[in-house]
Amino acid sequence: MENGVYGTSWLGRPLIYSLVTDEDQLPNVAAIAADQQRLRDPRRTTPEEATRIAAENPAIAWYAANVHGGEESGGDASLQILYELAARIDCEAEEMLRELVVGIIPTQNPDGRDLNTRQNAYGFDMNRDWFARTQPEIDAEMDLLRKYPPVVFVDAHENNGTSYFFPPNADPVHHEISEQNIDWIYYIYGPALAAEFQQRGWRYYNQDGYDFFAMEYGDTVPTTVFMSAGMTFEKGNNDTAYDRWLEQWVAGWTTLETAAENREEILREYYEAYVTALEEGEAGELEPNRTYQPGQELDQQVPNLAIRHYFLPPETSRAHPETATLVERLLDTDVEVYRLERNLSVPDLQFYGRTPSAGTVPAGSFWIPMAQPQKHCS
Ligand SMILES: [Zn+2]
Repeated sequence: MENGVYGTSWLGRPLIYSLVTDEDQLPNVAAIAADQQRLRDPRRTTPEEATRIAAENPAIAWYAANVHGGEESGGDASLQILYELAARIDCEAEEMLRELVVGIIPTQNPDGRDLNTRQNAYGFDMNRDWFARTQPEIDAEMDLLRKYPPVVFVDAHENNGTSYFFPPNADPVHHEISEQNIDWIYYIYGPALAAEFQQRGWRYYNQDGYDFFAMEYGDTVPTTVFMSAGMTFEKGNNDTAYDRWLEQWVAGWTTLETAAENREEILREYYEAYVTALEEGEAGELEPNRTYQPGQELDQQVPNLAIRHYFLPPETSRAHPETATLVERLLDTDVEVYRLERNLSVPDLQFYGRTPSAGTVPAGSFWIPMAQPQKHCS
């Protein structure tokens, strides 16, 4: 186990995390992360290399809790997960340690936990900050995840009532969320969690209340930025502290166990998801809108457009003072952004909302090609 500090809260508290894996693998965590990173770029990693990495490399799985300061039970559960992984010597725990590097963040909001507030000490609901990254706690967490990218990311919450929510989510689902990620969340983790809760006679619900659309949450953003299975868990806070802790810990453990059991397949599909993203980007294809929830009908399809590049005017343009901020946000999610060295003539340049026509993009403009591994974030 390795413990670290990934940042500092508004009130100066350290933001702590742990990485847990088999003790033989622990000295190689940086190399394991580097190999997993290789799967994220099919331009430099061949299918043969990807197959080898998927066969041999542990996968990185994260459990994070308590982003809302008053929702403590996920934090308590995370410590139980940590304890079980560290102390148990049975084959189930040993297999998980061999197959995974488990990252744990007991509280994403130590100030709010102490103050018993949903928000952090700045008064911000940090489960709305995952794209904008205006808060030091989330900004630092994203950088930590960039270093150790998840294939699964659990964000454990509490809500009203006594039941338990885990995915599948409600519609709408953002169209750029890859099908591989949906497959893992809806058809691997969701059913494993449901089976575990059914077996124990615990109440749960899914495909209700929590959609998968807005790119601001601790599920959608880790999914889209890291091609991972980002999942919100919600335990009803009307239950006893004991029951909240118990259900959170069993849900977290079941998730990690499921990740370990499916590790090779997940890593293979993780690479394939990046291959698909790159191919779609080259073709200028947007992923289609579709419904997942039984009985839902599609409201509208995505526009029938081929989009191969985005251009943003130079940040010196007084009409667009926020361009530099946007570019910074894109770079911080590992989107590749270039600048034009000279004017570029484009036969079918389309200004937002207008009809395409021949035009010139001025030198100094920012160029974001869709043909890149982070196509879904572009
Ligand atoms: Zn919450």
